Amino acid sequence: MLAAVMPNGAVLLGSNVVADSYHRRPVRVVTHAHEDHTKYLSRSVAESLFIVATPVTHEFLRILGHSIPQSKALSVDYNKEIEFDGERVKLLPSRHIAGSAQVLVEGPDGTAGYTGDFKMPGTPPMEDLDVLVVDATYGSPHLSRRGTEWDALGALIDIIERRSPESPLVIYGYNGKLQEIMVELRIRGVKETFLADDTTLKLAKVASRFYNVDIGDVRLYNKDELTPGSIAFLHVSKSQPMLKLPAVHIILTGTERRGPAVRVNDNVYRVSFSDHATFWEVVEYIKESRPKKVIVDASRGFDSKFMAEYLSKVLNIDAVSEP
Ligand SMILES: [Zn+2]
Repeated sequence: MLAAVMPNGAVLLGSNVVADSYHRRPVRVVTHAHEDHTKYLSRSVAESLFIVATPVTHEFLRILGHSIPQSKALSVDYNKEIEFDGERVKLLPSRHIAGSAQVLVEGPDGTAGYTGDFKMPGTPPMEDLDVLVVDATYGSPHLSRRGTEWDALGALIDIIERRSPESPLVIYGYNGKLQEIMVELRIRGVKETFLADDTTLKLAKVASRFYNVDIGDVRLYNKDELTPGSIAFLHVSKSQPMLKLPAVHIILTGTERRGPAVRVNDNVYRVSFSDHATFWEVVEYIKESRPKKVIVDASRGFDSKFMAEYLSKVLNIDAVSEP
């Protein structure tokens, strides 16, 4: 068995590597710092020999409160190879959040790869693998959002330009996403003062180096600074009490399928930003990748069975959904 997905979300690759959840193996890879990929990390820290991640992901993990002793934390740059017990392990770039990676394991029995979470375009497919484990958050076409992320970014900038002169703005999202949006807004000339909660701010400083973009005037959020001309970036978990404050509230969400931006009421918008490839983009990745076999990760996505069926019946690729 070259690869498998376990019921707890562990992705087994080769004979030594497990990614993104716990399994009794010497090498635990963390593809990126999102919660559903750092499951049971403390147990892996206790039992595994190495916790492998990109330098940025290790920094993110530290900021998010995961403690990994130096002797076990192995920072591996993109495209650098480490060898463990006759297997070569490589982290390859993926476009998802700062530091996110795909994992490639090459051993005597063949090659196995795991995409982790990814968006297309911008994630170079791993080619000609024996087994590819693919994230399929949107496992069927009807789950896909409308428009592209560029449409969504345009809609967000439009809201900022129209509303910012008279009102402060608050943008809610997940770790990684918020930092990417801060960077994208600066690239597009948004000059407002940025405010951010403590964790969001620390992650933003790391992300700004990763993307090589100066995020300009960013300060720790406090209510008194929330005035017109400022935009606060807060983790989505903080949205409930905040929504009562007089401001324009913008929720970044992967589940808004009505359009790039939807106005919920006078002061609340939902903007459709997904961190994941659409169904058709996953198919595109797999077509370019041409693996001998595909395992669709059913532990995190939706409709993974449909994706596996589509691959088998339409593309004639040996595909299963696991677990
Ligand atoms: Zn993720």
